[in-house]
Amino acid sequence: MLDVLIKNCKKVEHDGVTECSIGVKDGVVAALYGVKEILPDARTVIDAQGRYVLPGAVDSHSHIGQLPGSGQPRPQTQEENFESESLSALFGGTTTAMNYIFTQGSICRELDRHRAIAKEYSALSMFFHGALMNEAHLHEIPEAVRQGVRSFKIFLPYKGEEALKLGGLSSLNDGQLINAFELLARYSALPIVHAENPELIDYYMEKFEGFDRQDMAAWEATRPGIVEGEAVNKTIYLAKKSKCSVCIAHVSSKEAVELIEAEKGSVLLETTPHYLTLTAEAQIGSLGKVSPPVRHEADRESLWAYIEKGLPVVIGSDHNAWQKQHKQDMWQGLAGLPGNAYILPILISEGVYRRGLSWEDVVRLTSYTAACRFGLYPGKGTLQVGADADLAIISTGLSRKVAPQETGSIVDYSPYADYSFWAWPDTVMCGGRICRAN
Ligand SMILES: [Zn+2]
Repeated sequence: MLDVLIKNCKKVEHDGVTECSIGVKDGVVAALYGVKEILPDARTVIDAQGRYVLPGAVDSHSHIGQLPGSGQPRPQTQEENFESESLSALFGGTTTAMNYIFTQGSICRELDRHRAIAKEYSALSMFFHGALMNEAHLHEIPEAVRQGVRSFKIFLPYKGEEALKLGGLSSLNDGQLINAFELLARYSALPIVHAENPELIDYYMEKFEGFDRQDMAAWEATRPGIVEGEAVNKTIYLAKKSKCSVCIAHVSSKEAVELIEAEKGSVLLETTPHYLTLTAEAQIGSLGKVSPPVRHEADRESLWAYIEKGLPVVIGSDHNAWQKQHKQDMWQGLAGLPGNAYILPILISEGVYRRGLSWEDVVRLTSYTAACRFGLYPGKGTLQVGADADLAIISTGLSRKVAPQETGSIVDYSPYADYSFWAWPDTVMCGGRICRAN
């Protein structure tokens, strides 16, 4: 007897849509049944009524459990944050998070601690990226890889006060960067680079005269696309010289897109729901502060054009659970937006309905490519027999605004206050457990 039977599905894979019923047992997809087959008994039967059923999204970029740095209010413990923000992800059909571990100390020690918290408090399936922030971390790469970390964030922009506010982040210099690439290539691990040039940020900050402004265009003017483009250019050059594959994190600008496109698919582009939707004209003031900044229509359109070419892209939410109280001022507030509930709603609403992407494209973008690149396929990124029963049944045609606080998140504002989305999951399953059902 099955645990759950989901009848009348349009099951979407990266390479096709099939009408079938999905049988779930012991947390995995146990069997698929054709439309004419006799269906077995199950403890729970869900009728999808012909709706699309997708593998749950694999969020390539998640900051669950990252608390505000020194001097900032902390409304939750780390454990509470794992709880609330994993619920938020599930609300939107994100069933796996590739979460970041930031520490100036030992990556492996912090990995153990985060794995233990995730096991206890995360409702999501959770895996971890490391972060290489100092010389000692470079020496720790072999051991971290041995313990299952296969991807490592590298920052280029953060230093000084800004770095402290975000909880003690730090950047590698160019020497450490090429050393990291050489080491990661040797251990077949993937660098994920936050590409912004700090000296150019300083230059544009010094030139800027609008520090009384609170609009998103003002923030963008202090970190324009050239800041990201230069850092992407250097990253690609040094990675190629080190024969190291590379992923560029949260790509936001047409400058960066052009450079990545010239590599014809050999560089993995990650972008976020916010760069695919918002522009600096959005009237949300300092709440919209994020690094790299939300930019202009031409930047947003360059990202969609890249996606439409079918080159490898992963979607990360870059979910930061900061509250309004952390974002009162554009120049002093924290950078970062919520987003882990919005991956599927935005990719389907903006991608399929507005721009004519296929449902298969959505699966490729939101789960399949990330699962393949981060070593999670075929457990994740597919609903073939044997895969984890992580899925979302999607309701469409119903225009709906959803604020983060409705999703279970601690975040108390919406960057998408002006947006209604046409698709929301109405049933979400993670590891065979029904987490959300309407
Ligand atoms: Zn991030």
